[in-house]
Amino acid sequence: MKAAIFHGPRDFRVEEVSDPALEPDGAIIRVKACGICGSDLHIYNLGGTEQSQRVLGHEFSGEVVDVGANVTDLKPGMRVAVGGAGAYAEYVGIPRVMLNLNVFPLPEDMSYEAGATTEPTSVGVNAAKRAEPKEDDIVVVLGAGMIGQGTWQAFKAMGVSRVIVSEIGKKRLEVTKALGADIVINAAEEDPVERINEITSGEGADIVADCAGSASSLQQATDMVRGGGYWQLMMGTQIGSQPGSRNRAFTDILSDGGKIMMVAVYENMVEWQPTPVMIKGARMIGCSAGRLGDAMELMRAGKINTQPLITHQFPLDEITEAFAMQARPEEVVKVMIRP
Ligand SMILES: [Zn+2]
Repeated sequence: MKAAIFHGPRDFRVEEVSDPALEPDGAIIRVKACGICGSDLHIYNLGGTEQSQRVLGHEFSGEVVDVGANVTDLKPGMRVAVGGAGAYAEYVGIPRVMLNLNVFPLPEDMSYEAGATTEPTSVGVNAAKRAEPKEDDIVVVLGAGMIGQGTWQAFKAMGVSRVIVSEIGKKRLEVTKALGADIVINAAEEDPVERINEITSGEGADIVADCAGSASSLQQATDMVRGGGYWQLMMGTQIGSQPGSRNRAFTDILSDGGKIMMVAVYENMVEWQPTPVMIKGARMIGCSAGRLGDAMELMRAGKINTQPLITHQFPLDEITEAFAMQARPEEVVKVMIRP
């Protein structure tokens, strides 16, 4: 079969390799669509020798072509989304099939490329669940790439009435508006911290999800997250005293501030002023990995829609062009490889 082998920074080569072996508890999947993840892009740009000779690609869907002797709940011909790796290739071998844990049947009306977004969507679903939002919380999502999209849509699916998205890329702003975020901030034109201050009458946001992963987004999250009791006293403005505020009465000096959800991978070291986290009594919560089953359920129910996020598709032979495209956030949300 053909597979794109990673040889080093900016060096993919599509080569002939041996087909994956079928295990008794496993299955062979013909890959139909595999998304380019930010982490793949990171390896592509900077990956060292330890990554060399690998087949990347972990956000994929495909058709079952063969199942092991012990597998009864999966049949050749089934369309599935898969949690696994090595999918910039024609076929992937799953060593052990666990239905609805690592292999998910696709509903008839879901395309392969939408199915391939289950994994990145699941990261956003996990972040939203970990944030434990209340309906009247003000939630801000910084960055509207694939992870940000899954995150803000998951907050909406959980019933949050005001979900605000801040982004600089034109294409990403357009698609976020079209998909129905409550407020979309063009951070290339206005300061998101000031805007959140206006919207919340100076209170700040209850939950800020950093889905951009840069020094500036981390600082924005720190500066726009709501302060707790100590901060309210320091600022001399008790929550509830401003017109348009949510009338949350001051309770005590130790009441909690808002939450900063760290959802993105930070590509570089960041220089950052962390003191407001302390003064505000804010909480920073790391979010990695996802809830594939929950994501698939929300996608099946139409509560999360990823189809409009797939802006470009390339055959496996053009993987280098595909990666160059994914690196242009102005024009792209998600690029799919179609082996
Ligand atoms: Zn990924």
